[in-house]
Amino acid sequence: MTFQRATRLNGIELSEIVQISEAARRLRAEGRDILALSTGEPDLPTPPHVVAAAHEAALAGKTKYPPTAGVPKLRAEIAQQAGVTLDQVVVSTGAKQVIANAMLATLNPGDEVIMPAPYWTSYSDIVRLAGGTPVVLPCPMEQGFKLTPEQLAAAITPRTRWLMLNTPSNPSGAIYSRDEIAALAQVLAHHPQVWVLADEIYAHLSYVPFTSVAEAAPQLTDRMLIVNGVAKAWSMTGWRIGWGIGPADLIKAMITVQGQLTSGACSISQWASLAAITGDPALLDQRRAIFAARRALVVDALNAIPGVTCAAPDGAFYAFPSIAGLLTENGGRLDSDAAFCAWLLNEAGVALVPGRAFGLAGHVRLSFAYAEDTITAALARLTSALERTPA
Ligand code: PMP
Repeated sequence: MTFQRATRLNGIELSEIVQISEAARRLRAEGRDILALSTGEPDLPTPPHVVAAAHEAALAGKTKYPPTAGVPKLRAEIAQQAGVTLDQVVVSTGAKQVIANAMLATLNPGDEVIMPAPYWTSYSDIVRLAGGTPVVLPCPMEQGFKLTPEQLAAAITPRTRWLMLNTPSNPSGAIYSRDEIAALAQVLAHHPQVWVLADEIYAHLSYVPFTSVAEAAPQLTDRMLIVNGVAKAWSMTGWRIGWGIGPADLIKAMITVQGQLTSGACSISQWASLAAITGDPALLDQRRAIFAARRALVVDALNAIPGVTCAAPDGAFYAFPSIAGLLTENGGRLDSDAAFCAWLLNEAGVALVPGRAFGLAGHVRLSFAYAEDTITAALARLTSALERTPA
């Protein structure tokens, strides 16, 4: 009997980001010197006091099944910081699982989820896995990679269940201003069936003022899910803790899903996360300053390359330059962002992610969550490879 994949997996493959990272790993194993700027994972260590809290929790025997919705102390701290009640918070195995739980808990076949592109690559696949239909709205660089109220109004149908808003955005770094959020909320006022998923996992990594969707659109509170987590700001990608804040009935449905999928997030990681979010906020300022310096380095270097245009990202740790100019200058040989990334990996040993993985072709994503030396070396290789081998 040959292996048979479920039809629910049709069109869903390993994410392009993972594929590129694996290609880079393969080349490394062959002895090639590869510099990867392809992953959204800070090089900085998890803060020592967070690691210590995990040790303590493990030694104190906090190693049993936690309550499905999360360790009460962590849940209570998140609720208190957000100004909501305990039943409005669920802790999950990463922000990714929060999003997956929400989609599994709410979507029926054919329900539509609006996602402004570029979007984090997993959004569309999670929606498909949950039986929904992604509705991708291109938001090019000229509009700051942001959704306009007109676009939103035109895309809403009776089947629309969610609008995904990611601010600051992976991959563009765009942050929606208070007024921009209010204008989108104005459109949603006419469509009470549409909920908002605000993925704010990069909120602490903002280089311009950040306003939470919860704060800018309080009239949507009863149909809003705020997603956040410790992965990015505290360099805790491997600990796998994220959380959702929303109306109690939605949270309850998400906890039901979680109960059957994982029984709840890792107990030790939850105690570590409590130490992170109650720790000295000065740590976040220090880390933001480190990323801000790298951001300046990357944006300047990219804009110095003929054919590349890079807007300074407002937040997160990605640059998302347009390489459209390069593709035309190359006379069509490198006719796409994907071809460019494949060429760059082979020619210069530098791994970037093509924009098409995020629903917006003609761009590439460069993560600057890497040590400055690595970033500088990769940019130098990129520049010299382009000088060496145009057309
Ligand atoms: N949302 C966005 C926008 C992200 O970039 C990521 C991680 N790449 C996640 C959610 C998932 O975060 P976690 O590691 O907590 O699952």
